[in-house]
Order: sequence, then C-alpha cells, then structure tokens
Amino acid sequence: MEVFACAGCGTELTAPVSRVALPVHTHHGGWEELHPPLMEPATYAVDPRPTGPPWRRWEDVGEDAAARQGVYAPVYSVSFGARNRIVIAPGDSRSMALIPEKCEGYCRGVDGRAGPNLACEGCGRAVAIRMDDCGLWQTVWLEPDAVVRRPSALPTASPPDWGDLKQAGHRVPPVEPDGSWSRRWEAAVGVAMAHLVAATDNRPVTLPAGPVAELLGHAVGRYLPTGPGSRSVEPAGPGIRTSRPRPDVLLVPRHPLTGTPWRPSGDDGAVVPVDSGVWAYLAHPGETSPMPATGVLPEVVLRDDYPLPPHPRCALVPHHEAFQDTLVGLPAVRGPRLRGYRDTERFTGP
Ligand SMILES: [Zn+2]
Repeated sequence: MEVFACAGCGTELTAPVSRVALPVHTHHGGWEELHPPLMEPATYAVDPRPTGPPWRRWEDVGEDAAARQGVYAPVYSVSFGARNRIVIAPGDSRSMALIPEKCEGYCRGVDGRAGPNLACEGCGRAVAIRMDDCGLWQTVWLEPDAVVRRPSALPTASPPDWGDLKQAGHRVPPVEPDGSWSRRWEAAVGVAMAHLVAATDNRPVTLPAGPVAELLGHAVGRYLPTGPGSRSVEPAGPGIRTSRPRPDVLLVPRHPLTGTPWRPSGDDGAVVPVDSGVWAYLAHPGETSPMPATGVLPEVVLRDDYPLPPHPRCALVPHHEAFQDTLVGLPAVRGPRLRGYRDTERFTGP
C-alpha cells in the first residue's frame, strides 16, 4: 500500500491506500441529492483527464486545443485544470484542514469551484479539494503537484483482477433498497450508451432478451435509431462464453485495477466498456427480475407474507450528462455521421 504526503513538508495526508480503477460514475451524481463516498476505504484512483477550474469557453479554445484536453466536439466550456488528480474517500484523508474562504458550494456542502479548499496542517499549503455538495459523490481530490506518493509499511494485498468480478460483492444491483434506480447504474448506463453510439456510428442495435434488454432497452431506444440493418450486441467477458459468430458489439467489463476494457484474445472488433460492477450484474443477474410485475392483488385478498421489495415505477433513464460528457470525449464523435447526431435531440436532450 501507499500513502500520499505533502510535497512541501512531508506530512502524511492519507491513510494507507491501494490503487484501483477510476469509477465510471466519478463525475456523475444525481441532481440535488446527497451521495455516499465515491471510493471504497483504503483505495485511491487517478483521473487522467483535466478536471476542474480553470474553465475556458470552447469558442475561445478552438477545436485543436480542445482535442488536446480530451474534448472532441463543441461544449460550453473546456477544463484546463490539472490532469492526474488523485481521488480518495474523505475518511482516508489525514492532517488537512478546510480553508474557510474557499468553502463555496451550491447548497449542502462544498464543491471546490474555487480550487483547492483543504490545506496541509503541517505547512498550510493548499493540497486538495473536498467535494461533498449535493449532486456530488463525496471525495477528496489531491492535487498531483502538491503531494508525493510513498510506500506504506502495510503489506499490499493482491491487486484487483478479473477474478474479482465473480465475487458476489462485486455485483452492483440496479435497484436501491428504497425502490429507486441505482445512481451508479444511471451514470454507468449513460457512459455505456455513449460508447454504444460511437461503436455503432449511430445505427440500430438488437439486444439479447433477458436482463440486458430489460435493463438497457429503454436507454437504447432513447439514444439510437430503430430500423433495419441492426447490429447485434451481447455481453462478453471473463467467465462467460462469447457467442459464435461474434456479435457485432460486445458489452465488456472494465478491468477493476486499470479500467482497460476486456477483450477476447486476438479480437479487434467493437467493444463497449461497462462499469465492472454493472457488467457483473448483467452477466450474472441472479434469479429475480428487477423490473416491476404488472397488476396488483385484488383488494379483498389479505396478505400474511412479507411485502415484496419495492420496484422502480419506470424504466431506467440514463444520466444524460454522463452520456454527453463521455461522447464528446471519444474521438469517434468527429466522424461525419456523429457530427449530424450532435445536432439531434438524442444528443442535446429534450
Ligand atoms: Zn505540508
């Protein structure tokens, strides 16, 4: 395991942590809701893309400079913030104090809009950004230039691998205990839809019957056309057999340590990477359907069993900003068919 320390004075700023893949839903929370921490305890992840302020208007930045920031289509503003920010759970931060004049937020917490809002208690340098406002997964982001990484005295457990996807704890159920759709799923499906639009170049797709069609069918209808000439889409990944002939598009998990999409060996066809916890559920959904059953018991029937768990009232609606942010980050969006797609309601939203 590792710890991060202040680059200025050496004070340890984190508990021992081990690296994992950046969660797919990192930047995509639910509007006006408080969220739990993004990261599991004792883990950290790195975001290779520029994030946070300063922001510059796309029209001032221009196409080529925006592409160098990882933005391949017009958006309102482009981040010129640091790359490789390191994210941890707030509970794993150590020896940092909020900077009172930097604690802006929208309503229920701080959002780091003015840059680092946490200072090293050893030397007072601004070293990190705490975010816990509504709509944000709770995080502490260490500034890459303000910290150094050191080995910890604690032994490192074996790093996460494909085998972890088989563990029951890795599967993320799509429905929360209160009957609402999982926010992580909504974000993950938005991101996956962007990859699907790019992989098919905005062509119709056919989903396999069962959990994939039940859970993703509404989202696919939202973002892709219907009609003839559809591409076949099926889950593929470690522990499940890839259909023959190969489907046109494979829904594959991201590696839990590196985030790299899984591929069959020697394969270079189209893949759509999916949050590994969401993929694990799609590949091994268990026995019960997450979709609501139709109808209710007649009024005269008295029940003496426990009530069924609540089910969502409507189909899963993907996180639209997650979809947009992801699609403009894919170089394929510059192709001629997707240039036209960007002007449609499917992209801009109703
Ligand atoms: Zn310091």
